[in-house]
Amino acid sequence: MSTFTVLNPATGEAIREVALADTAATDRAIERAARAFESWRDVAPADRARLLRRFATAVDADLEHLAQLEVANSGHTIGNARGEAGNVRDVLTYYSAAPERHLGQQIPVAGGVNITFHEPLGVVGVIVPWNFPMPIAGWGFAPALAAGNTVVLKPAELTPMTAIRLGELALEAGIPEGVFTVIPGKGSVVGDRFVTHPAVRKVVFTGSTGVGKRIMAGCSEQVKRVTLELGGKSANIVFADADLEKAAASAPGGVFDNAGQDCCARSRILVQRSAYDRFLSLLEPAVKNVRVGDPADEATDMGPLISAGQRETVSSFVYDVGGGLSAEVAFQGTAPQDGGFWFPPTVLTPTDPGARSLREEIFGPVVAVVPFEDEADALRIANDSVFGLSGSIWTTDVGRALRVSRGVQAGNLSVNSHASVRYSTPFGGYKQSGLGRELGPDALDSFTEVKNVFIATE
Ligand code: NAD
Repeated sequence: MSTFTVLNPATGEAIREVALADTAATDRAIERAARAFESWRDVAPADRARLLRRFATAVDADLEHLAQLEVANSGHTIGNARGEAGNVRDVLTYYSAAPERHLGQQIPVAGGVNITFHEPLGVVGVIVPWNFPMPIAGWGFAPALAAGNTVVLKPAELTPMTAIRLGELALEAGIPEGVFTVIPGKGSVVGDRFVTHPAVRKVVFTGSTGVGKRIMAGCSEQVKRVTLELGGKSANIVFADADLEKAAASAPGGVFDNAGQDCCARSRILVQRSAYDRFLSLLEPAVKNVRVGDPADEATDMGPLISAGQRETVSSFVYDVGGGLSAEVAFQGTAPQDGGFWFPPTVLTPTDPGARSLREEIFGPVVAVVPFEDEADALRIANDSVFGLSGSIWTTDVGRALRVSRGVQAGNLSVNSHASVRYSTPFGGYKQSGLGRELGPDALDSFTEVKNVFIATE
C-alpha cells in the first residue's frame, strides 16, 4: 500500500505518513457500506436522530483537538479551525432533527389513497477538496446519514487528518461499523471508484470544475445521482451610495479569508466609478493591516497557502514570466518569507476585461478591482463569467439591493455582508459553479428518492 507524506503548510515540514487505499481496499469499504445500509436504513428515526446527536456531542468534546489538527495540516488560523469543527457539530445537530421530520405527502386521488415516501439511496460517496476539509465533509455526510444512507468519504490527499479523526469519533459515538467510512486515497483511485462502483448510488463532489465535469460524465454511465460544488469567481459589487468605510474594511475578509482558498472568495471587486478612487484609498490600509503569519497564533488573520504547487499557481497571476511584479499589481500586504507556503495579500487593477485575473479562479489571496458605471454595467461585468457561486452587494438603497441580487447569476448572495454559508440555508452554484444545493431544510431530498404508492380502496 502506498503512503502520502502530509506536510504542515506553515513550515513545509512533514507531520504524518498516511496510507492511501488502493482499488481493492476501496471496493471492500464500499461493500461493507452496502451491507451496513441494509440495517441503517431500518434504524428507527428517533434512534438515528439520537446517534447523530451523539456524533455531534463527540465532535464538540474533541473540538480543540480537531482544530489543532486543522491548523497543523491545512494552515487554517486557529479561530477559523475552531469555527470549522463547530460547523461539523452544528450541521450534525441540525440534521439530527431530520429523520423524524422528513415528511412524505398524501395526495388526493380517485379510487384510493396516494402517499409518497422518501427512500434512502444506498451508499453515498463524498469527495472532499483540501480547502475546507471539515465543513465540506460534514455538509455531505450529515444529511446523507440522516436520510438513511451509508457514506464512504474520501478526503483530499493533502488534508486527510481531520477526516480520519471524524471517522474515529463516529465509531466512538456509536454509529455502527460501515455506516460512515473515511478512505484516504488518490482521486484517480478512490474517488474514481466511487464513480464507477455500482453500489455507490450517489456522488457528492466538491472541488475544481475540471474534475467535476469528468465526475459528472462518469456518473452518467450508471445515471448515478451527483451533486457538484465547484469553482467560483464571485463579485463584490460596491455602489457609490454604500457605507464605503465598512465596504472597504470588510473587503479583505471577503476574499483573503483562508488565504483566498475559498470557493466563495469575492475575488473581483466591482466599484462604481465615482467611488473608485476613494474605495481604493480605503482598501489599501485595510489590506496592509492583514496579519499574515503563524496560524496557531490567535492574533493572525491569514495563514499560508496549502502547498508549494498552489503558491506557484497563485504567483502566476501576480508575477511576470521574468519574475518581476505584474503591471496589474496596485499594492500588496506583507507575509513571512521563510518556511511555509506564504503569499502576501495582493490587489490588482487590471484594465483588460479579458485579463486572466478577472476570468480564472485564483484560489489565493489575490483580488482584482475594476470600475463600473451603473447598475446595468455592474450586472454585465458580474455575470461575465462561467462561474456563479456567490457574491456581495454593498448599497444603502434597498430597492437596488434587491434588483441587483435578483440580477446576479449566482446561488449565494449577501447584501452589506460577505457571509455565504449557513447550515440552515441552501448553498450551491449557478452555471459551472455546480449542480444541486447542499445544506438548508431541503438537503435531504437530494439524498433520497421519492417513491409514490397508490393503495386502491375500491
Ligand atoms: P480537485 O478537483 O483537484 O480535488 C477535489 C477532490 O477530488 C480531491 O479529494 C481529489 O482527490 C478528488 N479527485 C481528483 N481527481 C479525481 C478523479 N478523477 N475522480 C474522483 N475524484 C478526484 O480540487 P481541489 O484542488 O482539492 O480544491 C479546490 C477546488 O475546489 C477549487 O476549484 C474550489 O473552488 C473548489 N471548491 C468548491 C466549493 C463549493 O462548495 N462550490 C467548496 C470548496 C472548494
